[in-house]
Amino acid sequence: MNKRTSFSRGLTDWYKKNARRLPWRETRDPYKIWISEVMLQQTTVNAVIPYYEKWIKTFPTVEALKNAPLQEILKAWQGLGYYQRAKNLHKAAQIICAQYNGAFPQAPEKLRKLPGFGPYTTGAVASIAFNLPRTIIDANVRRVVMRLLALNGYADTSQDQRIEEFLQKAIPRKNAGTFNQALMELGALICRSREPLCRVCPVKTHCAAYEKGIQEIIPKPKKRIIQDLDVAIGILQRGNKYLVQKRPSKGLLADLWEFPGGKVKNRESPQEAVQRELKEELGVSIDSTEHLMNVQHFYTRFRVKLHVFRCTSKDYPKTNALRKWVLLKKLNEYPMPSGSAKIVDWLMIKNNRVMPLMNSATGFRAHRMLEVVVKGITLKNN
Ligand code: SF4
Repeated sequence: MNKRTSFSRGLTDWYKKNARRLPWRETRDPYKIWISEVMLQQTTVNAVIPYYEKWIKTFPTVEALKNAPLQEILKAWQGLGYYQRAKNLHKAAQIICAQYNGAFPQAPEKLRKLPGFGPYTTGAVASIAFNLPRTIIDANVRRVVMRLLALNGYADTSQDQRIEEFLQKAIPRKNAGTFNQALMELGALICRSREPLCRVCPVKTHCAAYEKGIQEIIPKPKKRIIQDLDVAIGILQRGNKYLVQKRPSKGLLADLWEFPGGKVKNRESPQEAVQRELKEELGVSIDSTEHLMNVQHFYTRFRVKLHVFRCTSKDYPKTNALRKWVLLKKLNEYPMPSGSAKIVDWLMIKNNRVMPLMNSATGFRAHRMLEVVVKGITLKNN
């Protein structure tokens, strides 16, 4: 057996014995594999499972996804972030139904032309659903191969040419899907970013970093600069309805619904900011504000603190298709950024509303709600 075969065989044998049982691994349906792979680009496996299960129940086929309204799709995606990906799922489903009669094209060149199909998604669907020998590089694969080859530097796309050359030689012509999944699983379970478990690694005899004892310093750790943002949010209530508005269709968090408000400027208190923002956005003067709570939310590069105020005004702002008064019990039907969704959860608890089985913001189940709220929100009067 040559070195290349021994590497891929050792890896895939290990995977067959040790792979986690995950819902998308029980199927070869390209639609389900596609959905899982796009979701997995957003967050961890454990966080994806409830989203995936709910998604497949709601949109069981590519046709069902094509027929669903965008608002329902964004709602199902809520909490995963990068909402453009959810929009691309919808657009791609429409093309698959219109051009391929609802059957996924197998040729990678055709897959690649679908919205949202970059090299990773194309390779994942082609190899896992159709077993075509297409390589894939995600964060786990990049780290594992950098260590196998003892490549110096940061784990970024500048490494990918060397990694691709290695993968092209290593990927078996048959069982490419298993090989790709095995490499990702190795990165998740054994070749972890911190404290890799080299002693039980099935490919340690092929690993240059392990041989040199430098696996802990590959790849070079990145310093992440996190920016703090303070945002003031105004809760306006009319009877038992709340004012929400839709974000523009382009840009950050496009097409999602949220409570009015905006960034706190330098030398401005959150209370002053909410009054200014509501005047600018809605054209209403705020008579009184009551601080309700603070909500923390983390994005890749931002740590956002939402200062939430109950606001009262003599004037009601003008409403239209993009700005509405919505009953509290209906707010959960609107796709929202996670911070706004946490506020809705809090309002539901304060108003003794029964929580939905699946939390809109985080995908956690109802019985964990209180814990989620306490984690993300600092309550003022509770
Ligand atoms: S030997 Fe260690 S560093 Fe090398 S691939 Fe295995 S777990 Fe990763």
